[in-house]
Amino acid sequence: MNGRIQSKFLIGAAVALTVVLTASCLSLAPGLARIAISDIVSGLLMLLALLAFASNGLQSKGRTRWFWMLQAAGWALWFSDQMVWITFDLILHRKLPGMYPADALLFLAGAPMMAGLLLRPHRQPTERSARLGVLDFLLLLLWWLYLYVAFVVCWQYVSPSEGAYNRNFDLLSIAETLLIVCVLLAFWRESSGRWKMFYACLGGAFVFNGVWFYVLNGAIEKNLYFAGSWYDIPYSGSFAVFTAVALLGPGLLPTPETAADESYGGWMANLAMMAVLSLPIIALYALLDPHLPHQVADFRVLITLATMFLMALLLFIQHRRLNQELRRTNLVLEEASLTDPMTGLRNRRYFSATIESDVSQALRSHADGRDPHTRDLVFYLIDADNFKEVNDLYGHDVGDKVLVEMAHRLSSSIRHSDVLVRWGGEEFLIVSRFTDRTEAELLAQRVLSTVADTPFSMVGSGETMYRTCSLGWAAFPWFLDNPRAISYEEVLTLADRGLHQAKQAGKNRAVGILPASGKLPATTIEGLHSPGLQVDLLAVAGPILGHK
Ligand code: GH3
Ligand code: MG
Ligand code: MG
Repeated sequence: MNGRIQSKFLIGAAVALTVVLTASCLSLAPGLARIAISDIVSGLLMLLALLAFASNGLQSKGRTRWFWMLQAAGWALWFSDQMVWITFDLILHRKLPGMYPADALLFLAGAPMMAGLLLRPHRQPTERSARLGVLDFLLLLLWWLYLYVAFVVCWQYVSPSEGAYNRNFDLLSIAETLLIVCVLLAFWRESSGRWKMFYACLGGAFVFNGVWFYVLNGAIEKNLYFAGSWYDIPYSGSFAVFTAVALLGPGLLPTPETAADESYGGWMANLAMMAVLSLPIIALYALLDPHLPHQVADFRVLITLATMFLMALLLFIQHRRLNQELRRTNLVLEEASLTDPMTGLRNRRYFSATIESDVSQALRSHADGRDPHTRDLVFYLIDADNFKEVNDLYGHDVGDKVLVEMAHRLSSSIRHSDVLVRWGGEEFLIVSRFTDRTEAELLAQRVLSTVADTPFSMVGSGETMYRTCSLGWAAFPWFLDNPRAISYEEVLTLADRGLHQAKQAGKNRAVGILPASGKLPATTIEGLHSPGLQVDLLAVAGPILGHK
């Protein structure tokens, strides 16, 4: 059925039923017809509210659907309680016993309704807070059922007392309505627009219903009530109000949770913890009250212990989940702390965390005399040439995109076992592991080509531009016959010197620095821990721009 027609049908039917109820309660003589009309019309009004909430559920998705369906479930329980009344009044022709088990349905109807509300349907929480919230909710639900069993059911079966039963049942029912109204009030305060309006109306409907429930219940206890008496008009009329409120529902959508909203999860968790902590206090009350029949005291202690066990179980599960969550979050944080957010490459922190083990590995390989093709560690320091120019001509954002593209190209020119680090602004470091220094020139050449061969697109301007980079490299261990003589930090400094040389020699080239072999004219590098280090410079020119 089309949504609008459906709403019209529901509201029309609710109004018509309320009119029939009012007319028959006020005009018919007391008797079976009046009882029948009152009971059946009240049942139908509940059914309409159930349909209104359920149809909202069918029209929505995800969390909001759960909210509507849980409201409908509450109404289903309420409706089934009404069926019990109908059975007694119209089929069995008997008065409902004072402490009837089906009363629980009336009380339990509040549980799914409250559950739906605690989903906080106006907000779309992060997946994480939704997952953790379920267990807090189960703790609260358990606590609520515990109160019913410990304070109402005990007077029904353990030590029957109609007075105590009625008193506690009424108290808990009022507390239930008050709780729902408080939650609605809190949501009304924090929501806006149509949700605010909806919460206000729903809260009003609960207050209206609660007040008449209280009045009607008082009348039952004073023997003033009979099915079809005028008390039924406002009480059953409140179901029509709920139907009208439900019709505000279609189209209500949750807004995504912001960081500040996560406090709701903490608030629920605190509430659940208070519920857990209240149990021993209730048990103490049961033990210390000298007027309490001993069967009730024993029953309460037993029920408290059983509930504490179940709660401890839930807390245990929650604890495990939190731990898993923490581990996952730590992994994500650790990964983030080792990654450069702009390029997605590893950062200097990653380098510091891993270099010692790479160095040890290289030293071990040399000591063990392993395959010379896999025992060196080579550092390549790369710096984009004239990068200021890109920023000056196209802006910093375009500069960033060029850097990201450069990072991609560099990544694809290295091997799996090599690590590419964003060393600083537009500088990169390749740590080539399990390699051979005699192949370093090849990789250097590949790097120069991957950057210079293809022009970069200057996103936004529609232009393309050739860019180049310069590179300095050096291998660790420095002396093959004395691997520990020069530290990796010094080798890195030597690679930096190579880069400097490459820039000075005109950029777009690579300069490798190796210990002096005697075959080339040696150069002395100053400013190192090892003064007067004699080295050979191996220079490789980059490609001529625009030519492959
Ligand atoms: P050279 O060839 O001598 O390296 O010249 P250069 O212009 O590249 O100079 P230098 O390496 O000293 O300066 C780096 C420039 O790169 C400075 C800054 O404007 C730019 N830069 C550094 N980091 C970033 C970044 O993350 N994004 C952008 N867009 N520009 C950066
Ligand atoms: Mg630089
Ligand atoms: Mg530069």
